[in-house]
Amino acid sequence: MLNNNYRSAISQSIFGYISEAAAQIGVDTYVIGGFVRDYILDREKSKDIDIVAVGSGIELANRVADLLPGEHKVQIFKTYGTAMLKDEELEVEFVGARKESYTHDSRNPRVETGTLKDDQNRRDFTINAMAISLMKEDFGSLLDPFNGLQDLEDKVIRTPLDPDITFSDDPLRMMRAIRFSSQLSFRIDSDCLDSIRRNSERINIVSKERIVDELNKILMSPKPSIGLRLLFETDLLPHILPELSALRGVEQIRGQKHKDNFYHTLQVVDNISENTDNLWLRWAALLHDIGKAPTKKFDKKIGWTFHGHEFIGSKMVKRIFKRLKMPLNEKMKYVQKIVMMSSRPVVLAENVTDSAVRRLIFDAGEDLDDLMTHCEADITTKNKKKEKEYLDNFKSVRQKIKEVEERDHVRNFQPPISGELIMETFNMKPCREIGLIKDSIKEAILEGEIANDYDEAYAFMVKKAESLGLSKMD
Ligand code: ATP
Repeated sequence: MLNNNYRSAISQSIFGYISEAAAQIGVDTYVIGGFVRDYILDREKSKDIDIVAVGSGIELANRVADLLPGEHKVQIFKTYGTAMLKDEELEVEFVGARKESYTHDSRNPRVETGTLKDDQNRRDFTINAMAISLMKEDFGSLLDPFNGLQDLEDKVIRTPLDPDITFSDDPLRMMRAIRFSSQLSFRIDSDCLDSIRRNSERINIVSKERIVDELNKILMSPKPSIGLRLLFETDLLPHILPELSALRGVEQIRGQKHKDNFYHTLQVVDNISENTDNLWLRWAALLHDIGKAPTKKFDKKIGWTFHGHEFIGSKMVKRIFKRLKMPLNEKMKYVQKIVMMSSRPVVLAENVTDSAVRRLIFDAGEDLDDLMTHCEADITTKNKKKEKEYLDNFKSVRQKIKEVEERDHVRNFQPPISGELIMETFNMKPCREIGLIKDSIKEAILEGEIANDYDEAYAFMVKKAESLGLSKMD
């Protein structure tokens, strides 16, 4: 039995109506899954509520909609026998209790109607299989056949059935185990971990969309390295992001080692997660060094080099997004841009000149603050003195950016002379020279040869045009 506070809280809410509807149509009804888990954990209440009816979920949903004050539309998904009802910010999903049986050669289970216990058996983890009765006679009772409550207390993720069966039936559950471990800071039971390792290859039968969903949730967890490390240790990562697992390892030649770029990356992702909830900036941190595996070389004079890894890395971002069926939109371009520019402020930190800062502001545009946040997260040295030195360098870069911006206004910079004006002034049709003149004006401003101002740019344009043999219209 749960405590009385809980009982009164839920009976006054949506659950009171569901309970009444269940009594009216005479079906056994429970709230189950993530909502129960998060309630007991006292996590922020989930907006998604899953209701199981031992009978028709659709009929129950319709009855609840009739009882609720105001208009409520029930969305019905006939193929799945489920119904969805929205009430303010809540999304309540109703489903009839079911039994699932899988065969090895098909990803889709055979589904039959079943008991509450059958429905709990098909759940992924003991902590996700707990149900609370919404029936009047035992309202608020916890039905916990696999001891999920104890597992919540022990902070452990465990499957209700033999993990080989649970994971093989729906291999996405392997990633879900790791995702919950990362979100909740729970450990995964050792039999489950062994089973994930044994079954890791089966992740290949899962759709990319479902995989990316879990990957995003791992990345958005408070300390993503927990999940990322587990993905690596269970051999799932090479199937999902082989570019990342390729960064693992340290090579040594002539006594010179490079750092382990896989563990470095995990640290960078954790660091950035302390400062941003922007999923795409976390993705950029995850992928910022992927170009290092294909560009790694040993040079007898200078040691290990990764020349051009930012450029190669940003090309790889597109291939990864494509393979994972992620949208190839402005988010991807943003990730590419941060990866591509990830070393720029570092180079600059060693020698902060006005023109280099202007170029950085111009090239990074809107994303400059995010780029700086990335660079600061990229500091993973264990040497406290060095760490402070690097952070101080970035502080002075930030300061310089502020000064240059206030003075030169180069962020979202629009050249003061347009292509149209150049064409008009020299009576020309669109041609290569116009591009040349425009570029040289931009360069002159960024280099600090002229101010970002119309008159100076105009005079510069006339001079440049003359050097190309063009003369002004009178
Ligand atoms: P979150 O809302 O953070 O994703 P959740 O546990 O609510 O967590 P959902 O994906 O909404 O996750 O799933 C709701 C419930 O459905 C789970 O708690 C679990 O009982 C069950 N479930 C979801 N996906 C699976 C699956 N692949 N295999 C077995 N049971 C699952």
